[in-house]
This record gives sequence, C-alpha cells and structure tokens, in this order.
Amino acid sequence: MASYLDNDIKYLPGVGEARAKLLGVELGIRTIGDMLHYFPFRWIDRTRFYRIADVSEENDETFVQIRARVLGKQLIGVGRGQRLSVAVGDASGSTELVWFRGVKWIEKRIEPGREYVFFGRPHFYRGEFSMVHPEMEGVDGAGDRPAGVLQAVYGTTEKLTGIHLGTKGIGGLVAAAWQAAQGSIVETLPEYLIGEQGLMGRREALFNIHFPQSPALLKAAEQRLKFEELFGIQLDILSKRSVRLTRENGFVFPKVGEFFNAFWSEKLPFELTGAQKKVIKEIRADTVSGRQMNRLLQGDVGSGKTLVALVAMLLAADNGFQSCMMAPTEILARQHFASISRMVEGLGVRVGILTGASRAAERREVLEAAAAGEVDILIGTHALIEDRVQFANLGLVVIDEQHRFGVEQRARLWAKNSRPPHILVMTATPIPRTLAMTLYGDLEVSVIDELPPGRQPIKTYHKRDGDRLAVWGFLRREIAKGRQVYVVYPLIKESEKMDYKDLYDGFESITRDFPRPDYQVIAVHGKMKPEDKQLAMQEFKERRAQIMVATSVIEVGVDVPNATVMVIESAERFGLSQLHQLRGRVGRGGDQSYCVLMSGDKLSRDARQRLAAMVETNDGFELAELDMRLRGTGDLAGTQQSGMAFDLHIADLGRDQQIVELTRRVAGAILDADPMLETARNALVRALRERYTPLAPKDFSQIS
Ligand code: ADP
Ligand code: MG
Repeated sequence: MASYLDNDIKYLPGVGEARAKLLGVELGIRTIGDMLHYFPFRWIDRTRFYRIADVSEENDETFVQIRARVLGKQLIGVGRGQRLSVAVGDASGSTELVWFRGVKWIEKRIEPGREYVFFGRPHFYRGEFSMVHPEMEGVDGAGDRPAGVLQAVYGTTEKLTGIHLGTKGIGGLVAAAWQAAQGSIVETLPEYLIGEQGLMGRREALFNIHFPQSPALLKAAEQRLKFEELFGIQLDILSKRSVRLTRENGFVFPKVGEFFNAFWSEKLPFELTGAQKKVIKEIRADTVSGRQMNRLLQGDVGSGKTLVALVAMLLAADNGFQSCMMAPTEILARQHFASISRMVEGLGVRVGILTGASRAAERREVLEAAAAGEVDILIGTHALIEDRVQFANLGLVVIDEQHRFGVEQRARLWAKNSRPPHILVMTATPIPRTLAMTLYGDLEVSVIDELPPGRQPIKTYHKRDGDRLAVWGFLRREIAKGRQVYVVYPLIKESEKMDYKDLYDGFESITRDFPRPDYQVIAVHGKMKPEDKQLAMQEFKERRAQIMVATSVIEVGVDVPNATVMVIESAERFGLSQLHQLRGRVGRGGDQSYCVLMSGDKLSRDARQRLAAMVETNDGFELAELDMRLRGTGDLAGTQQSGMAFDLHIADLGRDQQIVELTRRVAGAILDADPMLETARNALVRALRERYTPLAPKDFSQIS
C-alpha cells in the first residue's frame, strides 16, 4: 500500500535534489517517512538556567544555558583571523564568550549592559569555563524561544552542516515532514497491546519525540518507540528459535564413552566447580535432544571455560564426531593445543593444530587427517575457516573469545557441514543474559559464575598522581617478595601520538625510579614487530624482568601467575569493561594480587563512578551492567556495531534492558498462543515481524 510517507525526500519543501542526495548518502534518509523516523539523540532542557559559578567540568554537562549581562566586548585581530570576545557576568561570576564566525554581525548586535540568554557547549581551560559560538537570545525579546520545553538535538555530519543542515536545519526539515505527513501516520501495534502495555499511540509518540510538550510526554514517546523496535526484534529472534527447536536435525551424542570416562577418572587434575558441572549438564542435555545446540558460554577470565569445552569435545569423540576449536590469536591457539594435548595424553584422542603459521607439510598432513576423519580435535586460529579445511564429520564447533570474530567468519565455520554442527561460543566479556540473547540472536546462554577454589579476590585501589611515591614504594615491596608488575598506559585511537608519548615518558621515568641492575623493566606495545613482542613477553614470563610497561593492547591470554600487581595509568580514560579485562591479567596464582588505578585530580562524574565501582567489586557482570548504563552498548567491549545483528534507531540495549526483557516476555507469550501469527488480532504483529526479518544476521539465518 503506497503511503505519502514513501515519497522521495526531495519533494519535501526546503529539500530539493542536492540536499536529498546528501541526506541519503550521509544519513540514509531517502523518504519523507525516513525523515520522520530520524530521531533526536538527545533533548536539551531549555527551562533550566545555570549560575555561572555552578558550571563545572565535574558536572559533565554537554550544554548549559546561562542568563547574563554583557560586561564588555572586544574585537581581537584582523581579517580572517579576527575574533570577538565578549565578557558576560551574572550575580555569581563572569565568563568569556567567543565568536570566530559572523564576528561583525554579532558585534553590532550585542549591547554592553544588556542581559541575554546564552546557550551552548561549555569549554574548560584550567578550571575556567567559556563558550564558543553560543546561541543567543535577548531576555525580553519574546517569541524566539523554541516551541517545546525540550529541544531536540539531531545527529548530523560535516558535509550536511556545510549545506545548512546542522542540528537546527535538520530539526527544520523534521518539522516540515511532520506538517506534511502527520495525516499519513498509521498505528503499527494492535489495539490490545497498546491497552495492555499502556503505550502511547504512534502519531502522538512521533510528535513528542521531536517536539516534546513535557518531560513526561517525551518519556512516554520514547517508551512507545523503543518498545516497538525491540518488540520487532524479539519477534524475529523468537520465531527463528522456534523453527530451530522444532527442526530435529541436530547430531545426537547419546554415548558417554571411554574417552570421557577415562578422562574423568584418570586425568581430571582437580574437582570441577559447581558452575562447571552445571554447564556440562546443560551441554549434555542439548547434545542428546536431537536439536542443534547454539550456546554462548560466559565466564570471567580464569573461570575454567577451556575444561568445559574439552569435556564437550570428548563427548563428541565418544560418539564418533570430530570437533574443532577456534581461538582468536596464534599464541592462544598454541596454548590451547599444548594444554589440551597434555590433558588427554595416553587416552588415544587425536589432537591437531592448524594456524596461519603452520608449515606447508604440516598443514597438508593436518588437512588430510581432518578430511579423512583421522583427527578428533582440531585446534586453530581463523585458518580453520578457510574453504580447503574439510571435515569428515564435524559434530561440534567451539569458538573461544568469540567477540574477536566477525559475523561473516562465524558463518563460514557454521557452514562446513550440510547438517549444522553444535556450536559452543565462549567469551569472557560479561554481558547480561537477556542482552546476550538479543545481541547474538538465537542463542542459549550458560554462565560460569564461580571461580576455582583458592583464588583470592584482587584488591583494587584508586590513587592520584600525588600518591605516586607511596605507590612506587608498594611496588618495590612486592618486587622484593619476588613478584612482578604490569604498568599499563591507555592507547586510544584518536590521539595515538600523545599516547605513545605517555608510554615512552612513563617508561623513562620508571627506569629512572627502578634502575638497573636491581630492576629490569621491559616495554611492550602495538608498534613492535610480533617477534620482538613475543620475545619481551617470554622474558617477562621467565622472570627476567620485574616490570612490564605496556599499552592497553596486552594480548588476551597473557598468563603470568607470578605477576601480582597491575598499575593502570590515566585509568579515567578507560571504560569499565576494559579496566576489568586488564585487571584480570593479575590474580591468576595463589598470591594476593593488587590493581592500582592511577588518575588525575580532576575527574568527571562519570569517571569517578567508574573508578569507585572498580574499587568496590570484582564482579565482571555487575561492572558490565553499570558500564552499559553509563555509556550504552556502543562502547561495550566486543559488541562493536559490526558484530551486532541489526540496526537500532532509538533503543539502546544497554540502557533499555528493562524494555528488552519486557518485549521478550510479551513476544514470547504472543508466539506461544499464535505461533504463525495467523489470527486477525495479530495481523499487525505479523507485519512488524516481517519488517525486522531482512535485518536478521546472516549467520543465524544460515543455520536455521
Ligand atoms: P578461562 O575461563 O579464562 O578460559 P581457563 O580454562 O584457561 O580459564 O582456566 C584457568 C586456569 O584454571 C587453568 O590453569 C585451569 O587449569 C584452571 N582450572 C580450571 N578449572 C579448574 C577447577 N575446577 N579447579 C582448579 N583449577 C581449575
Ligand atoms: Mg580461555
């Protein structure tokens, strides 16, 4: 059914060919409906005024609004470099406003002694705040206040800003789209659901998302639109899932045979934790069900996931199936190969390894063995997904640290059999359960929430630069006990040059404070050649150095149980998940381990919260939840947009977990009662599900 909303955006007044083209390329806006569904990413409360003295870096405000009197104005410089500096003040203090563009125009209009409202992004320099190019309104000049009490802010790009489509320009187009198209907006959720869930109607929601009439109405509008988006996704995921569960094409591993039994009684070096046993039971149940297993295993660093994977692979071997296990790095694959070979020694299980570095002869031999069914467990890197790797009867695929693999790579591994092998994906990135099920589509989730006995919780401290002497003293005492130390510097893309300078400066000052011959300090960073990196790591592992200075690129899997102290410099620049991952590099032996978070004195509210949380808890799940609440999923380690199964326009899986859970429940109940969504009352629900299907991830549609 053609709708006015489907009309090309170029027909909207104020757009035209050129702008339409750029809107499409830059923001994916092609129709008038797209424009209406281009949601603001924040709203500014224009009812709130700050006192100048209260504007502080620690409040983390992106925008502030002040009411201030002009104290003086001054043109500085000449020609193109000219700028206008305006001093303004209120009863609490004064500040400087600066214009680089439109200088003459503003200079003429701004009157000393008069009061204005200024609105803009605060900049801080040595604790003083100023604003560049603030918006400005005469206090008594009525009529130029925005219509809603909250003003929408839209994302835009440099190119669009160049053709006067900054956030204000986009807002103007949205308003035009609303004027033209409001009559064409139809309801997409069934009446009964709107009633049950107390949701706002679609048209009212679209109006209030762009032009909020009150904070409460904005909230209701957001709730409605997020509900719709997440509900559509859950319908899609749950429908796929029920298809998979009714399709009885999974391999069955009925036998607990000699490999498993011999390993269990003769080889198992320790008692399994309760959590490990629970997960093994879950995997057992999956692999006898006749359905294909698709399971995500989450467990903090050191929780013993490898052993669980090994047990599953032995069960496969007992039933005549091959397994493969894919690790993200060469080092990790070799480590797995060594430890698994050792653990199954003498059992007659054939274990092979294949990586990019395998020599040609070795590679040929392994490939032949895999294709002939003469290897039971094949361990490797992404070399395993190459097309020439063929299996005789692959029954189980284990993927370690899955977030390092892209969706495409996973899909290729899945597709190695005509019947899909069982899949066990393992990750140390803690993601709350519902979120994991949503992010990764149709997966069951297992959690190892218990560490092997005897591990002591890591003690974490937050220290400022002023405490450095005391921290160094502490390092000396630990080193005197024979322990080793990591000192990590942040490496953040945008300012790489500066970061490396931090690392080099840090390395220099540490070698000064910890001089030879008493101390050996080594540095490891991403710009080193792999061989040199490997060499330095080996040196540290063999205790020939006491301190390793590194960037945050310390490899996953660095395992030096004797290292007990992790010092993280400029810790305020790291996200919580990253801090937690780094902290996991210590606390791997029986000795008490420590993590010291160094930061500057001035901290944003956000940074203060993060560091306090690190000091308070060692629980990766708790930290991940907080991280997502603070920063949204965009920054969540391992869930880069590319790995995600769909695009979200308004919901955020981190911040909106409650709605994720709600929509999962609601969608589940509807599908239980009406699996094919055939009833008249669910006609709209079915349309909604169909709308989300094209966005389904490639890998999951291939296996179902
Ligand atoms: P991760 O979950 O990080 O992959 P690993 O599987 O590498 O953890 O296990 C970390 C260490 O703990 C290994 O040295 C492993 O042998 C040991 N381990 C695993 N399970 C247990 C257990 N139940 N009791 C004691 N040690 C265990
Ligand atoms: Mg591991």
